[in-house]
This record gives sequence, C-alpha cells and structure tokens, in this order.
Amino acid sequence: AANRETMGFQTEVKQLLHLMIHSLYSNREIFLRELISNASDACDKLRFEALHNGSLFESDPDLKIRVAYDKAARTLTISDNGVGMSRDEVITNLGTIAKSGTREFFSRLSGDQQKDAHLIGQFGVGFYSSFIVADRVTVLTRRAGEQASQGVRWESEGAGEFSIEMVDRPERGTEITLHLREDQDDLLSGWKLRAIIRKYSDHIVQPIVMHKESWDEEKKEQVATTEDETVNKASALWTRAKNDIAEDEYKEFYKHVGHDFDDPLAWVHARVEGRQEYTQLLYVPGRAPFDLWDRNARHGIKLYVRRVFIMDDAEQLLPNYLRFVRGVVDSADLPLNVSREILQESKDIEAIRNGCTKKILGLLEDMANSEEAEGKEKYAKFWGEFGRALKEGVGQDFANKARIAGLLRFASTHADTPEESVSLADYVARMKEGQDKIYYVAADSFNAAKNSPHLEIFRKKGIEVLLLSDRVDEWVVGNLTDFEGKALASVAKGDLDLGSLSDEAEKQEQESAVGEFKELVDKIKASLADRVKEVRVTHRLTDSPACLVADEHDMSANLARLLKAAGQ
Ligand code: ADP
Ligand code: MG
Repeated sequence: AANRETMGFQTEVKQLLHLMIHSLYSNREIFLRELISNASDACDKLRFEALHNGSLFESDPDLKIRVAYDKAARTLTISDNGVGMSRDEVITNLGTIAKSGTREFFSRLSGDQQKDAHLIGQFGVGFYSSFIVADRVTVLTRRAGEQASQGVRWESEGAGEFSIEMVDRPERGTEITLHLREDQDDLLSGWKLRAIIRKYSDHIVQPIVMHKESWDEEKKEQVATTEDETVNKASALWTRAKNDIAEDEYKEFYKHVGHDFDDPLAWVHARVEGRQEYTQLLYVPGRAPFDLWDRNARHGIKLYVRRVFIMDDAEQLLPNYLRFVRGVVDSADLPLNVSREILQESKDIEAIRNGCTKKILGLLEDMANSEEAEGKEKYAKFWGEFGRALKEGVGQDFANKARIAGLLRFASTHADTPEESVSLADYVARMKEGQDKIYYVAADSFNAAKNSPHLEIFRKKGIEVLLLSDRVDEWVVGNLTDFEGKALASVAKGDLDLGSLSDEAEKQEQESAVGEFKELVDKIKASLADRVKEVRVTHRLTDSPACLVADEHDMSANLARLLKAAGQ
C-alpha cells in the first residue's frame, strides 16, 4: 500500500524480544494470558471513556474478547472490541517500551542468558511475548470513535523492525493474528486453547468467547461451528466470596493487575462496610520491579467504582512508601466521574487510603510474626526486596510510625552477620538489666560497622548493638527516636554514659584516669588544635587507643561522609 512505512524497534525492544524468545520458551503459553490481559484492559478503558461519551460504544456495547484459530492458515487470532489504538499509539505501544528507567535496566543485562532470563520477569513481558510462539504478528486496530478509514495495520517478524499502514477497518478495537512458528501446531486446538484460557485467564471480567465445536464424522476431528460460547467465568474476581476463590485464581489475577510474570508473595482481600464501602484486593509482589526507585514509575493500584474501571496507578490510594503494592480497590461511594484532581482532595479517598495502609501493614505483621518457618521466610524475602522502601515510612507516615518500626529489620552484634533479621522487639527482649537505650552504630559498610572501635566496650559488656550500613538507616533511626519507650542512641555520639550498666569500681577508675592522663590529653589537644572540639579520656575502648566521637547534637561522622559524597 502507498502509505506503508517500515520503522525500527527501539533498541531495548530488540533486546527484550531476543531475550524473551530464548528464555521463556518453556513458559510459552503465557503469550495468551498477556494478549487477553491487554484486551481486557482495552475494554476497561473503553467502558470508562464511554461514561463521558456514550457514542464511543458505536452500535456495539457488549464488550468481549474472542479467541479463534485457523488450522489451514496456522494462525491464532485474539480480538477485542475495546478502545483500540490510533496510529501514534500503535507506534509508541508496540514499538517502544514506554516505561521509565528502561534504558538503565537494559544496560544492566549481562549477556548471560540464564541470568538475564531472571530479570525479564521483573520487567514484565506483555505484548512482545507473542513472538515466543509466532514468527510473524499482525495487528489490526481502530480507536473507538474514529472513522473506519482510521484503521491501522501493524506487522512484524519480531526482528529489528515493523511495518505500519493505514487501512479501512469498520470494527472498533484490536485484532491480533499470530502466524505460528513451525513447532507450535499443538496450539491449533480448541481443547488446548480452552485449557490455557481457563488456567490463566478465568478471572478476566469480560467474556472470552470461542466458537463451539462439534465432532465431524467425515473429517474425524472437532470442527468449529458459528455459535459462540463463553470460556471463562467472566466475573470480577474481587467481588466474589473469598472462600470461592482458589489460590491459583488469586495468583493469576495478580499477574494481570500487576503486569507481572511471577507469583505474588502475599495478598489480602477484604470488603469494608460502614461509612465507606469498598472492596480491596491488594498484593505484595514477590520481587521488586526494576523501577522501584524511579520517581516516575507507575504505581500499583487500579481504582474501580462499582466495577467500572476508573484509573490505573491511582497513587492516592496508598502512601508512597507502599508504592510496591499492586491490586484493586473498588469503591461503592465515589462518583463515576471522579478524576485525579478530585482524588487528591477527597475525604473518601483519604479514608480508603488509611484503610489500605492498615491492611498492608497488618498483612506484613502477619508474615513477620508467623510461627511457621514459611511465613518467616516470606517476611525475610519481603524485607530483602522492599525493606528499603518500607523504611521511608518511618519519616512519611507519622500515624503508623510505631507499626512500621516494628516491621524494621537490622543486622546486629548478636549474630554479627550482615543478615538483617533483628527486629527492635527482639533487641528489647535481649536488653541487659538496667539498659534503657537501643544502641546502634552506623557506617558505610557492614564490615566498617562491625569493626567499629566504638563497639569495644559494648562487646566487652555483652550489650547488643545494631549494625547499620544502609545509607538511609541513620535518617531512619533519627526519625524514630524511640521504640516502646526506649530511646535509640548512637554508640559514636556524645559522652557515652552506660548509666547503671557501669559499676562503681569502673566509675572510680575512670575518674582517676582523667587525672592521670591530663598531661597527655593536653598535649594531644594542643597538637590537634582547632581540628577537634575536645579531647577526652574514655572508657569506651578496650583495645583501640583512640576513636573519633561526634557531639550529642552534631551530625555523625558517617552522615557527614554521606552528605559530602552527595556533594553537599
Ligand atoms: P502493559 O500491558 O504492561 O502496558 P504490554 O506490552 O502488554 O504492556 O502492552 C503495551 C501497550 O500496548 C498497552 O499498555 C496498551 O496501551 C497497548 N495495547 C496492547 N494491546 C492492546 C489492545 N488489545 N488494545 C488496545 N491497546 C493495546
Ligand atoms: Mg499487558
């Protein structure tokens, strides 16, 4: 055609395609889940846009997804009558990866296929997974509300480029045709496709229809009739009763809403009644997404109002430190025309946000306090993936500070390993008689913390000290100030007073030492001049001759180092 153009994929798309085709082959069935998931999102979007503009439904208001196969042509077709795409949208959505941080992510790939394959789950696979089973993919689409002449045909063999042209397309929505690779003929089966749909996409809200089949005596095989049947349950999973939902259904639903390839770590599903009525189904992913630290990354919660999709990434529904949570909130009270601007000021949203925050903290507490090894292991995994994000909550969420503090985990001199497994409650339970503070030392690495000379007296007396080496840790303990009434104190700051932990004889010894070493101290003072505030005789050290101490209210040496490194 005259208007046909060939365009190159963004470099990262090429890398993703290559990686996916080679590493996900054993999981090839997921392509159907991904395409159906996209079709469902497209239907949700149309239904939402049509709230403001009913004409978008054209004459076809029954949203559905169709799966069909053609044995002779060796193709599979997945189509929907959702929102469709304009030409520009096709080029962006099916030619680039529109996620922030993509370039950085790909620059970290090692080239080792095995290792990189693990990373792909973190990235999400999506539309491009069609190339696992197809060596050519054709997309026909037209955006809702546009003329038939605004149809777009996109085609690619999944190598470096794709073609795009304008075509006539009376039907609204998107049709994706997969030209199967040589060895994929087993997918050309109604039975097989139904099994895959029921396994991965049963929870999809829109009906997924296929042509009914019947036995053909002559051909000795099943042949498609023209009558439709719905293959999935086609009900909103979160509206169903908890005990009617199988674990696997929860997991598959997560992969759809979370755009994730792997299972979630944990979830909570609850219906809230009372002044506010809403349902929440919230998941903690199994793994941190690659863009957890990207300020522009998408947030996880989908907002529905009485089952109508309103928006993705409703960031007002959870505080920023819980941005890794994925899932759905379905409100019975909000107006259907709610916008992001309205959300920002809504008291209803504030109540939902508080409710969701409490639910997630409760879910984390259940894992953390679990008596079973499996729960504990899950919490350790959670901490490894998301602990650093959760720590931000200590400074961000005043109302829940104590609960968040209870969820923190640290390394300490108790085990003397870098593993962060000590909770403040564990620490308090092990405190010495007469000890009234929680002691910590902060350094820029675990080894530096562990070998700090400030620890000598504590080790000698058998007093546990938290070993902090994450950049944000000092900020966290600074915001925390106390836990269960016990102040947090740096072992490297101020005039160390172990209070009732030092005995009388020691105090006397210290006092006499001050006199005994006066001359030496004066000499050191004179030679260091204005580089130090003070030189003191100390009982902090047992083996080292000297150490640097910050004044009680001064910045710690470690924090000063961090700020200097950050150019401040
Ligand atoms: P994701 O679903 O995580 O956004 P995908 O790779 O699955 O990533 O899809 C990329 C984008 O392509 C989608 O966000 C959507 O904008 C668009 N898209 C894919 N399939 C369809 C479809 N059937 N109808 C409309 N838009 C689609
Ligand atoms: Mg998708």
